[in-house]
Amino acid sequence: MKIEEQARLIIEKFPRHHAERDPFRVLIRTILSQRSKDENTDEAAERLFKAGYGIPERLATASPEDLYDLIRSSGMFRQKAIRIIQVSKEILERFGGKVPDSLEDLLSLPGVGRKTANIVLYVSFGKPALAVDTHVHRISNRLGWVKTETPEQTEFELMKVLPKELWGPINGSMVEFGRNVCLPRNPRCELCPLRETCPSAKGKSQVGSKY
Ligand code: SF4
Repeated sequence: MKIEEQARLIIEKFPRHHAERDPFRVLIRTILSQRSKDENTDEAAERLFKAGYGIPERLATASPEDLYDLIRSSGMFRQKAIRIIQVSKEILERFGGKVPDSLEDLLSLPGVGRKTANIVLYVSFGKPALAVDTHVHRISNRLGWVKTETPEQTEFELMKVLPKELWGPINGSMVEFGRNVCLPRNPRCELCPLRETCPSAKGKSQVGSKY
């Protein structure tokens, strides 16, 4: 099975729905998600936005202490409070209150790295952008799509082997796949729809895929 076919299968079997597409909220939520589990990020983002901080004007004038209780569940809440206030101020001052839609401008915001920028570009602006997180990096290497040491190397190598229309959706689907089947420590290869073609598969003759 070709890389493209494997990628399409992952996207089909492990779809990810993006309920939130507002650029500012997607950006803030992605910053909150750094080193945080999904459910904790969701709780923090929901509390923050419900309290009226879903727009840069409000967040830019907040003090970090105003945000601690709201975003505590996402972890590292003191640093994240400072970071999202800084980002909001820059969006107001440098970009007229609108989240920029170019990689270069997004990367110029404090604490915004390639993964965060690419998520915003795809989810909010529909641009072909390949966000590589720990799941994408690990699974791409296990499947033998790339042989890389860092997520950044993986991003550039994946762009060579995947067609552009898959760059955006592969991130969310790999996250779902990585949480449910291709787990970091003990991948559940017996349930994996790619086990016959995966060079890292364990116990290929075991139970069939449920996907
Ligand atoms: S066969 Fe196993 S290691 Fe390979 S992609 Fe599937 S779960 Fe991951």
